[in-house]
Amino acid sequence: TRPIHVIGGGLAGCEAAWQIAEAGIAVVLHEMRPEVETPAHKSDGLAELVCSNSFRSDDSTSNAVGVLHAEMRAAGSLIMWAADRHQLPAGSALAVDRDGFSEAVTQAIADHPLIRIERGEISTLPNPDQPTIVATGPLTSGALATAIREATGEDQLAFFDAIAPIIHRDSINMDIAWMQSRYDKPGPGGDTAAYLNCPMDRAQYEAFIEALLQAETADFREWEKDTAYFEGCLPIEVMAARGAETLRWGPMKPVGLTNRHRPEEKPWAVVQLRQDNKQGTLFNMVGFQTKMKYGEQTRILRMIPALENAEFARLGGIHRNTFLRSPKILDETMRLKVQPHIRFAGQITGCEGYVESASIGLLAGRFAAAEALGDQPALPPDTTAHGALLAHITGRNLVDKENGDFQPMNVNFGLFPDIEAPTKDEDGRRMKGKERGVARKRTLAARALADFTAWLAANELRKAA
Ligand code: FAD
Repeated sequence: TRPIHVIGGGLAGCEAAWQIAEAGIAVVLHEMRPEVETPAHKSDGLAELVCSNSFRSDDSTSNAVGVLHAEMRAAGSLIMWAADRHQLPAGSALAVDRDGFSEAVTQAIADHPLIRIERGEISTLPNPDQPTIVATGPLTSGALATAIREATGEDQLAFFDAIAPIIHRDSINMDIAWMQSRYDKPGPGGDTAAYLNCPMDRAQYEAFIEALLQAETADFREWEKDTAYFEGCLPIEVMAARGAETLRWGPMKPVGLTNRHRPEEKPWAVVQLRQDNKQGTLFNMVGFQTKMKYGEQTRILRMIPALENAEFARLGGIHRNTFLRSPKILDETMRLKVQPHIRFAGQITGCEGYVESASIGLLAGRFAAAEALGDQPALPPDTTAHGALLAHITGRNLVDKENGDFQPMNVNFGLFPDIEAPTKDEDGRRMKGKERGVARKRTLAARALADFTAWLAANELRKAA
């Protein structure tokens, strides 16, 4: 078999290279550092953690990223092996010694007889006779980003996220909020109640604006300043600073909506949320991109009536991030539809975080290896953490795959298909809200691990002769 090329020696690229090599297939891993630097990496090591040293929760019984850890370990992940060897005390989280971690990955890759590391920037996409995985991450070099844009079309590669917070639907108080589209205008499917509306009276609006004006915001890093935000996606706190009425004329317009619970009261302002996934478990806050610090976001957004107990699947942010409109341009195993010899992996596909990027590298590596051995790659079930994340990337959860808004995401239980969870505890006592929530997460986690183990057993990679 021909060697498979992997571009980018980060979390995803190293994991992909490892999985391919472990299947007995030769790999050439291209890493541009130290010849060409990124604005965030500081070393020339592979799998460098550019910011925090945390892989987040290691609890595989009731936390989605913990489940992802467990699935990766079961699949022989190099990244998890190195993380476990260089773990630091951090309670139930998995924190690592970043230098030891990166050195262990670099050494394992360098020592693998089937992997060759080539240093230097790759600035063009490969010819069709060269199967390749592109895993160049959120800070993909400019030349390669241009080549990707040329191959995919101008609008298919984004350079930064302007993310509005996403909320778990079951944490929204529907005694206050109601479903209605503005002017009851039907959507493509004829639905006239596509939006979830949270009303505010004048005093609530004014208090909210005041809180926004006082909020602490995250700084733009020096190298992010040149991607000054577009007028079309200004952070809400910037809009508030432009005038007390700006939001009321923008994303918080109260027109065309009638409060279903109190039809006689005309709302002074309305916050709208839109369904974010097919299952209807997640809703995003329309036009609410923000640069407020995370603690400030949860505190201030919970001032919105109906969101007082909101649980956030992801908070808002605006930062430099190169990512593809994957649902539109990638196939279900993350190959570029127009050039299927190229597969993408890692954060550039629209996942978020170290662990998620590595897990998508793991899948891309296994898919590429299966293909090289003449097998049809098998997709992990949607009920697993890997499958749920892959479904997000390839748009299987999107209401509109072609035109729908696509934003990178961490793994979270909102991406998993729903499940019937127990309503009574072991003593037969009926469980209440929070307890039931935990029971549901436990049931989802157990199903994911069982289904992933079965998938692995059924799809053991054949080894190349
Ligand atoms: P990377 O790990 O970035 O790896 C990509 C590799 O490709 C790099 O080594 C790069 O040098 C190389 N490369 C790029 N272009 C080329 C080219 N043309 N030719 C050859 N090589 C190339 N996630 C978290 O979980 N926690 C955090 O605290 C966190 N903080 C972050 C802070 C910043 C500033 C950024 C930008 C991201 C942060 N992330 C964080 C997200 C995190 O970077 C990614 O989740 C993760 O590193 C992505 O893995 P990856 O393998 O896709 O990309």
